[in-house]
Amino acid sequence: MIIKKILIGLILFVIGCSSHISGSFSPITIPVDNLKVVIVESEYDIPQYFPGLVGEAINIGNKQYKIYVVGQKFDDKIYLDQLVLGHELQHILHWKNKQIINPDKQ
Ligand SMILES: [Zn+2]
Repeated sequence: MIIKKILIGLILFVIGCSSHISGSFSPITIPVDNLKVVIVESEYDIPQYFPGLVGEAINIGNKQYKIYVVGQKFDDKIYLDQLVLGHELQHILHWKNKQIINPDKQ
């Protein structure tokens, strides 16, 4: 699962750095109300943990969302996996605007 995410990230990076993007659209503004990002020490701290899960986006209703992402502390700083954080944020953007593809399907 994480390998798939890394590969997708690499593909998106390559796409992002190339001129192969096709199609055009107007800028899309998606307000994300009441988003809380919960940085946890271990994947076992993610509420709906299952093996291989490294992050999770949850719609808790009433326009409130939570993203759980595993952080790692090193030299007093907490590092986040930007690929996981971006993937989970994209779930919320997709829920709010179906023009944005479900990140599990891209
Ligand atoms: Zn996903």
